[in-house]
Amino acid sequence: MWRDGRATVSAREKEKAVPSRTQAQLEKHVARLRRCRRCRTMRSRPVPGPPVASRVMIVGQAPGEHEPDAKRPFAWAAGKTLFGWFSTSCGMDEAAVRSAVYFAAVCRCFPGKESNGTDREPSAAEAAACAPWLEAEFGMLRPRLVIPVGKLAIGLFLNDYGKLVDVIGQQFRATYAGVEFDVVPLPHPSGASPWHRTEPGATLLRRAMGLIAKHPAIIGIKG
Ligand code: SF4
Repeated sequence: MWRDGRATVSAREKEKAVPSRTQAQLEKHVARLRRCRRCRTMRSRPVPGPPVASRVMIVGQAPGEHEPDAKRPFAWAAGKTLFGWFSTSCGMDEAAVRSAVYFAAVCRCFPGKESNGTDREPSAAEAAACAPWLEAEFGMLRPRLVIPVGKLAIGLFLNDYGKLVDVIGQQFRATYAGVEFDVVPLPHPSGASPWHRTEPGATLLRRAMGLIAKHPAIIGIKG
């Protein structure tokens, strides 16, 4: 369930720190996640983000082919573009984002390639198999701001949202795993997609990054 929430969470005092015990819980969780071998259809071992106990969560689709070797999400070309957006709009470079935001995904393993060379989108069964990891993270971190990147991740939080033009550049309230939070969706920064480089995508992307930059949870993690 979701609704337009542009007027929500305006008080910075709501941005409470994550309890210290959560850090230890999250470290154990990420260690367990690294050992997951539930999906035989995946082409790599899990690539979780580091255990950053944050009220801000970025949720991607799945790692690409380079991330397993790099051992971190968004380690290649799409990540360079994504971190460029944060640098321009929020004044946070890649190191600042990685140290202050928790990186999750619909699936944590590389799904492999399609015959045309593009990354295979995780199946519904793979997404369902991986969902308990994400649900546990929501329970632990209770995020105030969730930034889903790309269509598959957006669909986790905004059911039947239609097209990207219907949601990019807007902020919503959503509930997942019993936790309510703000959502500002982003398009996938893949070089294969021109959506974010052409109109109206470029303008909507700027609007979305403006919402993220002024969100109290982002202001809170920047100190
Ligand atoms: S995609 Fe998720 S559930 Fe499947 S093996 Fe990887 S971590 Fe485990």
